[in-house]
Amino acid sequence: MTPSVLADSHGRILRDLRVSVTDRCNFRCLYCLPETEAAQNFYRGHWAKLPNSTPILQQWVPKTSIFSFEEIERVIRVAAGFGIQKIRLTGGEPLLRHGLEELVARIAKIPDIEDLAMTTNGFLFAEKAQALREAGLQRVSFSLDSLDRDNFKKITGRDGLAEVLAGIRLARELGFAPVKVNAVVIREINDHELEALAEFARAQDLSFRFIEFMPLDSARAWQKEMVVSGREILERLRAKFDLQLVASDNPHSTSKRWKFSDGRGEIGIIAPVSEPFCGHCNRIRMTADGKIRTCLFSVTEHDLRGLLRGGKSDADLGEWLRAVVWQKEARHHIGEPEFVAPPRSMSCIGG
Ligand code: SAM
Ligand code: SF4
Repeated sequence: MTPSVLADSHGRILRDLRVSVTDRCNFRCLYCLPETEAAQNFYRGHWAKLPNSTPILQQWVPKTSIFSFEEIERVIRVAAGFGIQKIRLTGGEPLLRHGLEELVARIAKIPDIEDLAMTTNGFLFAEKAQALREAGLQRVSFSLDSLDRDNFKKITGRDGLAEVLAGIRLARELGFAPVKVNAVVIREINDHELEALAEFARAQDLSFRFIEFMPLDSARAWQKEMVVSGREILERLRAKFDLQLVASDNPHSTSKRWKFSDGRGEIGIIAPVSEPFCGHCNRIRMTADGKIRTCLFSVTEHDLRGLLRGGKSDADLGEWLRAVVWQKEARHHIGEPEFVAPPRSMSCIGG
């Protein structure tokens, strides 16, 4: 093991830490927390076919287990000492965390952190945008799965399309760059909107990423038939738009990107199911209750909270983190007979 970095046993060096600041959410997306009638109606026909369809019993983490800003900052400082350079705040919905701008200001002051970003559903973004920008947040990624008000409500459980669109506009006005927008594509839910979403990216000059649906929903209702593969997405978009592949300068990028021929906007395709990129993965995650996850699909979580609250020194935490990261899984096993879905949904893991 190299002494000053977080390396795993497969030769990967980790640079990217995703920090979930809450497991709570104000949306109920049908690919993540499918608790609405509309989500159940969609899945009902498919559930009977599932061999292992026991839904996860959603249990919110007790407030006392959620890491304070001091605790999060401490972990990030320790991780930065071992080469972590990128932090992404996520959740649940990160904007539900009271005083988030204070956390952003604390992280922005850590010298080795070069990139500080947040993923949000955008519904509450307008309220917090200015304060987050001033505190030092550099980049924002929004989730937007539909441009149709009714379909947006069906997918997210919330009549919030106007607020999210306003949030995206505001992010650009305030100078967050680049502003990325992500859509999870699900067959028979929003695949008919692929071209409209791409046209939106071109018209608004946005970086828009289409993501394959992964088996991380709390209902455990995912089936491969619902996944629209990255290849199919690209074929559909190529039939309508003149797209040029963008050469990537980041070997750890999870997406392949294409530019529109008129130079406005770009689309990206993230295909973890059909074209896994595990070999280049340089990420780890920390849940809101202080568990380290070395893979999105880990079935084991490593309890940092117990150590940190048990009085361990920074040096102890660093050594522990190095040992945990060493065990990072080689790859996920989606689609293989031995695949076991993680015990918590995406909202609790922190996407
Ligand atoms: N609430 C914020 C949001 O929605 O942007 C941040 C947390 S959310 C868990 C992070 C990302 O995970 C979002 O872009 C969301 O679309 C994505 N996501 C959630 N469940 C997913 C699934 N089953 N498959 C693929 N992406 C998923
Ligand atoms: Fe949707 Fe994000 Fe909330 Fe999950 S955490 S339900 S993806 S808004």
